[in-house]
Amino acid sequence: MPTQRLRLNDGHYIPRLGLGIWQVPAAATAETVATALRLGYRLVDGAAIYGNEEGLGEGVRQSGLPRDEVFVTTKVWNDDQGYDSTLCAVEASLARLGMERVELCLIHWPCPARDRYLDTWRALIRLRDEGRVRSIGVSNFMGEHLERLVGETGVVPVLNQIELNPRLQQADLRALHDRMGIVTQSWTPLGQGRSFDAPPVRDAAARTGKTPAQVILRWHLQLGVSVIPRSTRAVGLAENLALDDFELAPGEMAAMATLDEGVRCGPDPMTFA
Ligand code: NAD
Repeated sequence: MPTQRLRLNDGHYIPRLGLGIWQVPAAATAETVATALRLGYRLVDGAAIYGNEEGLGEGVRQSGLPRDEVFVTTKVWNDDQGYDSTLCAVEASLARLGMERVELCLIHWPCPARDRYLDTWRALIRLRDEGRVRSIGVSNFMGEHLERLVGETGVVPVLNQIELNPRLQQADLRALHDRMGIVTQSWTPLGQGRSFDAPPVRDAAARTGKTPAQVILRWHLQLGVSVIPRSTRAVGLAENLALDDFELAPGEMAAMATLDEGVRCGPDPMTFA
């Protein structure tokens, strides 16, 4: 599973499954990241606002893996949006990570009321061209933001990281991503455990002998998206990686589709600033 990758529209590849580190305490981040990498993870999803980029970088070094075997994502926080401020923010992230370059940098939220994501994007294009970030993408962008970004700059994000879980399945946005050549990546993929007891999840778990979390993560992979669950326990990290020895049947995928309620766990991208 860790070796399975999705092709990005700039020719690079991203592992389909990674570790999310939002809310991982700074003091525990290096150990969590190093443990995950030793277990087989090859993608770590960080962000400046998570306050643990130093630990992310340290964990990559502690793992002993060659730097080019690990895919590191960071994100530009809302307060840093704008051209010059983004250039500074990414340099600061690289310094905290202790890295010359990251594989992926995202605009964390569109913040439409600030209306600075076009300038932020232009700065990311420059950083990509200068080799400070290998690929550039976005997070929490809605269709209208994606279309404006591409219309104004001609550069299509490689990926849009969005809230996606059984209760918020995002079919329309996923279809738009497919049309535009953008990889979908799911955040809060386990949906705060709110679907663990739902019959489609429970039934598939009983049939396969897997846990509800594994059923839901497998569902993400079968949707064709990249997924970044968070766990700080070695046993949880290993559980979330063990997804390649079973498959959900078409009927089970159809049953999962009935769980969509269009309900978010997190903020609304149209208003979050
Ligand atoms: P998640 O869906 O990964 O769930 C994490 C919670 O589920 C934790 O409480 C964890 O202990 C528990 N858990 C993990 N594995 C489990 C298992 N096998 N069985 C039972 N419980 C389990 O939630 P998340 O951290 O909100 O999202 C994942 C990642 O997405 C974040 O860490 C972050 O990197 C990213 N994210 C991005 C944004 C964004 O705006 N771009 C927002 C939120 C999260």
